[in-house]
Amino acid sequence: MSASPFAAVLPGLGRQLCYIAVADEWSILWRCDHCRGVSVPLLRRPDTADHSQWIAAVGEATRGHGCPACDARTKRETPGATDVWWDPDAGGWVVCLPVGAEGSAVLPLEIRWFDAPRALIYSAAADLVYADDAFSRAEEA
Ligand SMILES: [Zn+2]
Repeated sequence: MSASPFAAVLPGLGRQLCYIAVADEWSILWRCDHCRGVSVPLLRRPDTADHSQWIAAVGEATRGHGCPACDARTKRETPGATDVWWDPDAGGWVVCLPVGAEGSAVLPLEIRWFDAPRALIYSAAADLVYADDAFSRAEEA
């Protein structure tokens, strides 16, 4: 069996890296025994012809993560404090904000890549979390 330049197995994880030509990006095909699994788009791509280091880095970066689809469903079903996660229903990162005594709102951050820089994700989330403060200051002025 020959290796394909457009797909690879993440060693020991049961996940596959796959190039999606239509989107011109790489995704992780994340298998899951509890749900059907999910395709997770990546921002990063291999920067050399030798993909082995990149494949190993993606594997290490995702090694401790559970299935993103199952994680998202659990977080949506148990709203609580402000939280951030990658949500397949939203097609990217979301922030959950408490609303009222027991409610919550899940807002998309418009960042679709699972491996987007955490600083970008948390900055976008903070913009939404503290947007109310900006409106309050504008009213006081
Ligand atoms: Zn799952």
